[in-house]
Amino acid sequence: MAKVEIKSVSKVYDGGVRAVDNANIVVEDKEFVVLVGPSGCGKSTTLRMVAGLEDITEGELLIDGEKMNDIPPKDRNIAMVFQNYALYPHMSVYENMAFGLRIKKVPKAEIDKRVNEAARILDIEKFLDRKPKALSGGQRQRVAVGRAIVRNPKVFLFDEPLSNLDAKLRVQMRAELSDLHLRLNATMIYVTHDQVEAMTMANKIVVMKDGKVQQIGAPLFLYNHPVNKFVAGFIGSPPMNFLTVRVREEGANIILEEGSFKIKADPSHYEYLKKHINKEVYFGIRPEDMLYTDKGGDNSITVKVTVVEPLGADIHLWLTTETQPLVARTEPNHVFKVGDTAIFIPRMDKARYFDKETELAIVPSPDL
Ligand code: ADP
Repeated sequence: MAKVEIKSVSKVYDGGVRAVDNANIVVEDKEFVVLVGPSGCGKSTTLRMVAGLEDITEGELLIDGEKMNDIPPKDRNIAMVFQNYALYPHMSVYENMAFGLRIKKVPKAEIDKRVNEAARILDIEKFLDRKPKALSGGQRQRVAVGRAIVRNPKVFLFDEPLSNLDAKLRVQMRAELSDLHLRLNATMIYVTHDQVEAMTMANKIVVMKDGKVQQIGAPLFLYNHPVNKFVAGFIGSPPMNFLTVRVREEGANIILEEGSFKIKADPSHYEYLKKHINKEVYFGIRPEDMLYTDKGGDNSITVKVTVVEPLGADIHLWLTTETQPLVARTEPNHVFKVGDTAIFIPRMDKARYFDKETELAIVPSPDL
């Protein structure tokens, strides 16, 4: 069992920087939770408070119901894997993994058993005698993870562990860490600025901005039901489009007006849009929900193509209405050229709306 509860936790650094502001996060036993957000949003500070590397200014940290605020890091039964691996260059892989256990005076036979077991799990058995400099980046990363595994911790913490690897290796290590999570059946908290890592690895994502938790939920729930414009724009690539439109009532319908188009909202959203009649809102539409059509007509948007990015399986098209940019992702069954005029029909049932001032979602998320 290893449940981590971060209760109303804040961190104020010397000089008054409020790096984490009243964070409430519950990490259930065996869950893989990813803290994600732009650089400086407070993710590492949160993780370091769980590890005990930073004091908690306000609030409580509980592990399995026990308050940890004043427990030193070595007694928290937590292992942390850092971005720079922090391996000892003069020690072999075996020694690197064994070192922490030796310090704790674990018997030699037990150390041997744990190091060999970790090496087997990570497929680095044949490198045990090598020094870190004779390993590839991915292998070094595995040793760093191995050093955490041998400690048999209650909770694994990862601070941007893949950011020093090249793109291809990152994809592979992502899958390896997900697989490892399943095999070890352990509680893991993982920090990254990369929303793709968050989406692909997490059971639950915590999106942070300016020290504040914005939203917590399963990856696809956040994708489909972001609580605000920030989460909507942060999760997903290319990001959601946000077009400023004016909400109008036309007979029984609610329509959205932009200088160059006028489209009908989905009736399921009327109840909430009614409160914004004659006001401007952000109309959020994901690139894949912009459907290409060769015919104009009701509910279509006519745009100009500004950039064409053919990716093989699909095409990213950078477009512009008369005044506002947007992106569409389409299948590669039509040839687009820069300067073309193209017509798209947005899937209005998938549209999201955000208040122009508060940037909060206008249509509430369904209850879980
Ligand atoms: P992230 O991991 O999301 O990039 P951090 O948790 O490292 O963000 O930092 C959050 C905020 O706290 C930033 O504004 C950063 O400059 C500040 N910060 C981090 N460490 C310290 C420190 N030791 N002293 C003062 N400010 C810090």
